[in-house]
This record gives sequence, C-alpha cells and structure tokens, in this order.
Amino acid sequence: MILPICQFGEDSLRCPSIAVDKKEIRSKSFKKLIRDMLETMYKLEGVGLAAPQVGINKRLIILDVNWFDGETKPLALINPEIVYKDGELMSEEGCLSFKGSSSQKTGVQLNKVKRFKKVKVNYIDLDNKKQSIEADGNLLSRCLQHEIDHLDGILFIDRDPDLDEVIKQLVKNGFESSLKKEKPNLEFNNLENVPSLN
Ligand SMILES: [Zn+2]
Repeated sequence: MILPICQFGEDSLRCPSIAVDKKEIRSKSFKKLIRDMLETMYKLEGVGLAAPQVGINKRLIILDVNWFDGETKPLALINPEIVYKDGELMSEEGCLSFKGSSSQKTGVQLNKVKRFKKVKVNYIDLDNKKQSIEADGNLLSRCLQHEIDHLDGILFIDRDPDLDEVIKQLVKNGFESSLKKEKPNLEFNNLENVPSLN
C-alpha cells in the first residue's frame, strides 16, 4: 500500500519519535508498516524514509541507496543510534517531505547540507538482533544521518547554513504557507546539536 507522505509544515515531522518496543517488532502491523514504507519509497523514487514521514512517530527508518543500479537491497533500522561520528562534509540532498506543490517534480533540492563524513550506527533488525553499520563520505552516510534526523524532528533545511537559499527554494516549491508556521531551525547547523529524548 502506498502511504501518504507528510509535507513540511505538518506536525509529525517536527515531533520527536519514541523507541519501538521489542514486542512490537514481531507484530504483523509493524511488518506491514515496513512493507508499505518500502513500497512507498520505491514508488516515489527515494533512497530512504523515516516513520514520522508517514505520520508515525516511532524510531524506524528504511533505506536502500543502491536500488537505482537495478538490485534492491532494502534495510530496516529500528531504534537506530549514531554511536561514532567524524569529519564533516557539505552535500546535496532532497527529501520526500519537500516535494511541494510546484510543477518542478524534484521539490526542494539543497546543495549545502552539512553532515558528518563518517558515521557508525547501532540498531535493531527485524529479527530483534543488535546490528551496526558504518559509512564513510558516501550516499549511505548522508542517508543514515538524514533519516535519523527525522526521528528527532530535525529536517535537512536545518542543516543548510545558507538560509536565504533555503527560503528561496521553499517559496519556489510552494511552501510559503508552511513558512508562516515554522522556519528552518538554525540551531542544527551545529551538527552536535541534537535534542535529548527525555
Ligand atoms: Zn527526509
């Protein structure tokens, strides 16, 4: 089932997500949620999706950064946590929650999004096992950070220091009314700033 994607301005994108309970991982409804999220991500030609983007504020992300090459290798990360981070880079990013209403199909595309170069992420897999994944300076690294940010209510517009360009892009893509409600949160230009969970 294709799920509707929350767009910038909707509350669930700014709401911090809660941890997934271990028992919940085995439930049919949770497995269906992951299947639906994957179907939605592939259909919309994304490489990652976080549960808050489909209105569910739980700590779950899915990704598949190489499927454009022809082979799908979906990954579901439950309760992911960045446990190591190093370096910094500026990169180009988009987001399915910023497709907007403009005739330009790509939606908001920013090219100065600040990220760590290298990250290690611990998470729980669908078999309830502890796993970890590492990425260095590639799409996987950026995607992991982008999706985990969603779980803390942080959006990629918050990680771009060029506020004028961000506003310009948002207006161009039909987000003028959302901008009356909220603005990019410049506090998150500092990569170390992540709100605490409690
Ligand atoms: Zn996103």
